[in-house]
Amino acid sequence: MNIDSIKNGIVIDHIAAGQGMRIYNFLNLGQLDCSVALIKNAASNKQGKKDIIKIDTLLNIDMNALGFIDPTITINVIRDGVRVEKYHPELPERMTNIVKCKNPRCITSTEQELPHVFVLVDREKDEYRCLYCESKAPAL
Ligand SMILES: [Zn+2]
Repeated sequence: MNIDSIKNGIVIDHIAAGQGMRIYNFLNLGQLDCSVALIKNAASNKQGKKDIIKIDTLLNIDMNALGFIDPTITINVIRDGVRVEKYHPELPERMTNIVKCKNPRCITSTEQELPHVFVLVDREKDEYRCLYCESKAPAL
């Protein structure tokens, strides 16, 4: 793949250096059949160093969940070689079954069938708390 010329796909840019692999794993990109490029420590004017992920297909996934991992990222959607959309993830008000509550006294540790729900309590700080016990969400 010529990584500079994606025809139809998604480029996740401005990932904090070192975070690219977490996003790669979170999106299960290893399971895709298309070309995927993870570029580590690319030079960045803004950040010094950054990671970039280029996916050579138009994935239909909830990119907003990525805001939980790294709210500074930029998501670019490419169609016919042209960038048609560029946005930052909107932090979701709720995350269901994205991370698990680690509090051993939380009801989710005994009631296995309960979904793990975290609610956004501070948009500025990217802070989520468990719906049931108000523990902070663990890092992904
Ligand atoms: Zn909890």
